[in-house]
Amino acid sequence: MNIDYCLRGTAKGNKVRFFISSTKNLVEEARLNHNLSTLATAALGRTLTATAMMGIDLKGKDTISIAFKGDGVLGSVIAKSNSSGEVKGYVDNPEVDLPLKNNGKIDVSSGIGFGTLYITKDMGLKQPYVGSVPIVSGEIGEDITEYYYSSEQTLSAVGLGVLIDIDYTVKSSGGFILQIMPGAESEIGFELDDKVQKLPPLSTYLIDNKPEDLLEYFFEDDFKLLEKKVIKFKCQCSKSNFEKALITLGKSELEMLAHDEEIEVVCQFCNKKYIFKNDELIELVKLI
Ligand SMILES: [Zn+2]
Repeated sequence: MNIDYCLRGTAKGNKVRFFISSTKNLVEEARLNHNLSTLATAALGRTLTATAMMGIDLKGKDTISIAFKGDGVLGSVIAKSNSSGEVKGYVDNPEVDLPLKNNGKIDVSSGIGFGTLYITKDMGLKQPYVGSVPIVSGEIGEDITEYYYSSEQTLSAVGLGVLIDIDYTVKSSGGFILQIMPGAESEIGFELDDKVQKLPPLSTYLIDNKPEDLLEYFFEDDFKLLEKKVIKFKCQCSKSNFEKALITLGKSELEMLAHDEEIEVVCQFCNKKYIFKNDELIELVKLI
């Protein structure tokens, strides 16, 4: 299966909202683009998965970004997505790794460290909405659960998993966000919590199971599927966007850059490289 997707809908008589996704391909693309270590693949992969699902909850041209700014070895881990299912992201230190934890798991929490999780929603208003919470575990899923609870007063369960194969490729990846609507009976929360606890590690579960299997596991047939949306790693960068950015540097700075035969500009989000020859830079100076 070469396509990633997210299932969105409601369950238990509209008392629960769900987002369930498979993200193996987009996480593998991020790994290849950024030459990510195993640790960075797990941390960014989980963050991309959560951000893609939260993006599906947006409308129109709205965007959401998630930024883990911790003191761990990875530095900041950033992802951004939109309502079209396009997600992109990067890690400050993509090549660092850490030994596995005693239980054999990738030590994402040490990679992230302590600090602040920022969630920014740009809904085309004058000011974007920025919510922040202290990083509680650095395991990503728990931190997003905490964000929903303290910033949006929403009870949720967030599960994210990325499994790396022995050849360092992504073997499986995906996640779920279950949100309990205000006014729902507490039994619904207990029941779902019990199912989440009994679920095998998500990354292992997703080797042989699809999001539809997870949906059935959580709700049997008591759900309403509203959307099955393709999600992918996609960056909107272009040479013309970088031209605009270069122009904002100002005349003297651009003239300085034009002394070199060419300069290379790298997109932080997707690691794509754009070359500007000095005559192109001189043309840009004329526009100022
Ligand atoms: Zn890009």
